[in-house]
Amino acid sequence: MSFRPRWVAVAAALVLIVLPVPRAAEAAPPAAVALDPGEPALIRFRLPNEAMLQRLVAGGEDLAARPRTQNGAVLADIVVDDARLAALTAQGAEPLQVIQRGSSGAARATRLAAQADTLHFLQAYWWTSNGKTFLQTQVATTATDDPDVEITVTWRTADGATGSFPLVRFEDSGEYQYHYALPQPMPAKPVQVTAASSLGGTSRAITPAVWPGATPPPLPAGYQKDFVDAYMTPVDIKARIKRLARQYPKLVDVINLPNKTQGYRRTAVAYLGDPNAAAVIVESVAFGDQGMNGVQVRTVDPGAANRPLSATYKDRVLTVRLATDTTGKTISTTDDVAAFISARYPQRFRAVVEEGSAGLPMPVAGPARLDDGLQGTEVPKGPWTVQALRIGKTRDGSKPGVLSYSQEHAREWATPLVTLEFAERLLANYATDPATRQLVDDVDIFIIPTVNPDGANYSFNDFNFQRKNLVNHCAGATRDPRYRNSWGVDVNRNYTVGSYFDGYVGASANCLSGTYAGTAELSEAESRNVIALAKAHPNINLAMNVHSYGGYFMWPPGAYKADGRVTLPRPSIDESKFFLDSARRIVGAIATERGTVTWPSYTGPVADVLYSAAGNSADQLYYELGIDAWDFEVGNDRWNETTQQWEGVGFQPPFDEAHAESQEYANGLLELVRVARDRAAAEQ
Ligand SMILES: [Zn+2]
Repeated sequence: MSFRPRWVAVAAALVLIVLPVPRAAEAAPPAAVALDPGEPALIRFRLPNEAMLQRLVAGGEDLAARPRTQNGAVLADIVVDDARLAALTAQGAEPLQVIQRGSSGAARATRLAAQADTLHFLQAYWWTSNGKTFLQTQVATTATDDPDVEITVTWRTADGATGSFPLVRFEDSGEYQYHYALPQPMPAKPVQVTAASSLGGTSRAITPAVWPGATPPPLPAGYQKDFVDAYMTPVDIKARIKRLARQYPKLVDVINLPNKTQGYRRTAVAYLGDPNAAAVIVESVAFGDQGMNGVQVRTVDPGAANRPLSATYKDRVLTVRLATDTTGKTISTTDDVAAFISARYPQRFRAVVEEGSAGLPMPVAGPARLDDGLQGTEVPKGPWTVQALRIGKTRDGSKPGVLSYSQEHAREWATPLVTLEFAERLLANYATDPATRQLVDDVDIFIIPTVNPDGANYSFNDFNFQRKNLVNHCAGATRDPRYRNSWGVDVNRNYTVGSYFDGYVGASANCLSGTYAGTAELSEAESRNVIALAKAHPNINLAMNVHSYGGYFMWPPGAYKADGRVTLPRPSIDESKFFLDSARRIVGAIATERGTVTWPSYTGPVADVLYSAAGNSADQLYYELGIDAWDFEVGNDRWNETTQQWEGVGFQPPFDEAHAESQEYANGLLELVRVARDRAAAEQ
């Protein structure tokens, strides 16, 4: 997922929150700020952008508190004098509030003391990872509306070692949530934590709980794993599916999902003219591979007076003859030419005026060669059939069903490795491991390794950060090929529940946005396939949507409306308990591989721990189809002992990291199957 409301470290004790959605309510207009010559003051500024904040940090500016955002703007509290105030204002910083003048410290302390708040631990968990102990806490203050409250957590170990660390305020959609910090390294297991605030409030002393507090059954000797040797393209994945079906015919069905995708294809396009001067964008209606790559287009001067605009298409060359006046001078504009081509050849070409070329005289230009621009030479053209594996001894719908699907987002290359490793472990160990055999006998497992193969092909061959599918719904000047890497629909914003079209937050109507929701709910073949599979198999009652990266484990609700931050309905307390208890088991299973512990702060409802994702698939599976639907973000941050920092792994880490992710998260999916089996057994 591209945007995450995470803490971005910009300096040791300095973090920045970026909120996804500006609040509708506007801040009060700032009063005029004036300082006497040489007078120091602590002033809250609204900075024009994050880049200025970075410059200030790099330049050693006296930032008094952590910056934050409000109404989409970056706010920073800075100690300045009158000269510095003038300099910052000249750079675009807007002074909003004089928090404190140079001599008012005593008065402020008095005011704070009168308003002591109450603190309450929402979370206090410790765990060990590769011999290292970590503590993570969330604390809520009753002074929810005071953005200046600073909270410090103090910890103690059994042998009396103590220390403390600051928390940072977390707001979402303009609403205070809690204060928290990234997991902190500890010298040993913490046995007590307390919190204190700058308003004078304190919490009760708490004994942190162990996280996740669950371990899976051990694997038997001879258990087979590690079936992933390299990143896999959609072609590789199709071959793997075929091989598994051939190798284990008694345990596997291959399901061809009903909606073929567009395929790895694009229309062919060319600039007619110079896009830096005056140009028309000419595009084929059919895809480039349908005989339109290599078609040429040109404009010519007819060389005679009083000619109308005209065109011929012959021998794969479109020739446009420009109109002329009484003197024989060409008089067609870019708009004339674009409209003429679209009207004259509606079945074959469409043309739009390039941005910035509107109304300009159309030059004599070309011939220009239309091309789809696709770089992948080993990708089959044509519509793609997305496939699912169905694994189980009894595949007649009588067993509880589990659905796991990956690569809704094209660039998340590690995710199909997770689901394919999971699939092959079930199959390869069936004959020799009784525990695996029992799972495969008792559960009906559906796996879609790549939901979005067209986007994946584009990610492998053309633009590695491609997130969306390959369907271009843009119109007009946004069809300019300069935007080619921004086209497509975000498959995981194209579902029907809590969608952009319903007014939920976290998707866009802009066809160039990374979270473009499509033209309508389920406008895309990719999303329709996921729902079609789930609907066709009503025994499916658990689902896991595998994404990368960041190390999250999430469940509904996944979206809210901005005004008041109203989420989709919360699960019942029983369902929430099932989600959390299962999460502990699955997080515990993931941790057995190489000690990766998904943080408690990243375990919970999508809307709370990540962001609002309007129209995501898990919400439709849960609210409409009654499936308990989770999401993984594989690829947890790694602790760097040298720098004492958590470091992100990215969408396409070096293969060794992706391989490790596939192994640990396949463990998690196996535990999910055990959860399905245990729940079915408990209900009998
Ligand atoms: Zn994703």
